[in-house]
Amino acid sequence: MDIEVLNGLLRPKAIAVIGASNAPGKIGYTVVKNLIDSNYQGDIYPINPGSDEILGLKAYPSVLDVPGDIDAAAVVVPAKYVPDVTAQCGQKGVKGLIIIASGFSEVGFTDLEERVVNTAREHGMRVLGPNIVGILSNSDSCNASFAPFLPLPGKAALVSQSGALLIAMDAATYTRRVGFDKLVSIGNMSDVNFADMVEWLGQDENTACISLYIEGLKNGPKFIQAARDAGKPIIALKSGVSAHGAAAAASHTGSLAGSGQVYDAAFQQAGVVRAADLNNLFDRTLALSLQPPMQGDNLLIVTNGGGVGVLATDAAERYGLPLRFAPEDVQEELKKHMPAFGSAKNPVDLTGMAGMDWYQGSTRYAFAHDWVDGLVVLYCETAMTDPVEIAQGIKQAIDESGITDKPVVVSFVGGEQSAEARRWLVEHGIPAYDAPDMAINAIAALREYARNTAEATTPFQRHADVDEAKAREIIAKVRAENSTSLTEVESKVIFEAYGLPVATTRLATSEDEAVKTAEAIGYPVVMKIMSPDILHKSDAGGVKVDIQDEASVREAYTTILANAKAYKADAHILGIAIQEMAPWGTEVILGSIADPTFGPTVMFGLGGIFVEILKDVTFRVAPVSADQGMTMINAIKGAPILKGARGEEPGDLQALSEVLSRYSQMIHELGDEIQESDANPVIVYPEGKGVKVVDARIILKEK
Ligand code: ADP
Ligand code: MG
Repeated sequence: MDIEVLNGLLRPKAIAVIGASNAPGKIGYTVVKNLIDSNYQGDIYPINPGSDEILGLKAYPSVLDVPGDIDAAAVVVPAKYVPDVTAQCGQKGVKGLIIIASGFSEVGFTDLEERVVNTAREHGMRVLGPNIVGILSNSDSCNASFAPFLPLPGKAALVSQSGALLIAMDAATYTRRVGFDKLVSIGNMSDVNFADMVEWLGQDENTACISLYIEGLKNGPKFIQAARDAGKPIIALKSGVSAHGAAAAASHTGSLAGSGQVYDAAFQQAGVVRAADLNNLFDRTLALSLQPPMQGDNLLIVTNGGGVGVLATDAAERYGLPLRFAPEDVQEELKKHMPAFGSAKNPVDLTGMAGMDWYQGSTRYAFAHDWVDGLVVLYCETAMTDPVEIAQGIKQAIDESGITDKPVVVSFVGGEQSAEARRWLVEHGIPAYDAPDMAINAIAALREYARNTAEATTPFQRHADVDEAKAREIIAKVRAENSTSLTEVESKVIFEAYGLPVATTRLATSEDEAVKTAEAIGYPVVMKIMSPDILHKSDAGGVKVDIQDEASVREAYTTILANAKAYKADAHILGIAIQEMAPWGTEVILGSIADPTFGPTVMFGLGGIFVEILKDVTFRVAPVSADQGMTMINAIKGAPILKGARGEEPGDLQALSEVLSRYSQMIHELGDEIQESDANPVIVYPEGKGVKVVDARIILKEK
């Protein structure tokens, strides 16, 4: 990233408005007026060949006539003039273009957009847009946009792919009392994209939290990297469920991946916190921009009312932070700050009699206690107590504790007085909400941030003992045969090259060879049809398990061939695979897809009905470490089954997580070739006994 150039674009010291106008109602008028009204301290150069003066400022025919340097040019001329204007800006030494003009790729004129970007790049310029509202910054007193005013000041920065939404959110910052330092409209993302913005905002001293409205990312892996490196909270609202051609996908994994689950996974891997909807984006942004991450699971709730306490307790469970009882010593101390009929468990109920003193005393003690990782203070407006006074008491207690590395969030439920108390709290750095579940959701965001950061910083260590050349040799052979579908036998050779524990499998092309192979492998064996035209072997009656002797091999051989013929008369049959019969265990499934945004992505779930009906699966962008593999295993609802529910022996999760990591490395390194793959099933054995891949499939990309 060229910081200096992006600084010129995003924190310009001098701005030209190309297409400036004296006619109210025109965007070229609004942008100049907004710059003046926002008290912009840099130089403003209106550009218009037909005017000498615009809104009291000297106007110039072109940027080339401007005497001083120009950092950024806001471009509002019609699309067809933009390429020429871009060339002139390049000649002038402008650093960045804020292309507000529309009429580019969003309406199909992709070539025009590319021409502009290419010209800009030739001159070392960066391009924001086109098709944007512009940029707004409180710290630079700069409204270089056609949005009417700067947002309510604060520490967050919003980057929005939708311009209309950005304007609406700008206004809503005042009604919702969530402050932003910057709003950046990113539009068509012809050049500057989310990854660039995250990288730049990561180093921006005025941004404490990066808030994103995303319709689609352009370069997934680059975004993940930028988010990991940002070093501050990022929250994303992703709209649009990506169907990614799921219908066309040949495998399970493809059809399961459609529902935005890959974005979910990628955000988690990038350390990005998710917003459920627009309100949630505001609410969570407030907490993330004002409070530190929550580093453990111990949440303490202090309240003056049982009702809000129970609502908060329910919400805590819903948002992944189930309450635990506070330790005895904490309870003992807290009892000093409540009447005898109060409760010091968790939630801590100070009762409706609680005034400023009790709130202050309990908050001060609880916040400072080591057991408490995060504090939520709830207040229900009563006839006897003053919300603002209580708000001030809470704030004072937090300050006096001297603790700055754990979060506190509050909810004041009531009328105008409570609203006033909330405003006061937010102005003093404490996120305050009007509903208890919202306060819990907000502190859950701070917990998610800490958790996701931990996952995002787990390094992937490449397994060096793999034979990539061998894998590519098999792929080349299949390609030479004009096929993109590998048989189980071929797939397993590649799996083995990546150190995956596959059941010994060999191809036999005659009954006699089948017998010999079965004897070499050792009974019992499994026999399966091998044909590039039969993807689901058991559907074709092409799988026979637990074959105990020679006679059964011969019988199975004939039956399987007959079944295959009946299933698909013209199927090209390569032979019958003979394989080691793996003992019974828990069946899981591994799968992969080539996601259009994030590239090779791995899926994991339990086999059978869990995947077929319950769709209990989890995704990660490849590659993943064994630790992340373990996170995946724990992420599915069926995890307790693998961990040994109902007296079953716990499965070998160590081996399974290692397999997930190796598998992810395989699809990542062969990502230029592999479209989809799966290992369905993989059988998991008790701890120390490993796992076995008994079926494998790879489908290559069409080239
Ligand atoms: P397909 O998925 O193409 O129908 P599989 O190779 O997965 O065929 O076989 C179907 C089922 O047979 C598997 O889900 C598994 O339960 C069982 N099976 C297959 N191969 C073995 C093996 N080597 N050892 C034990 N069971 C096996
Ligand atoms: Mg299978």
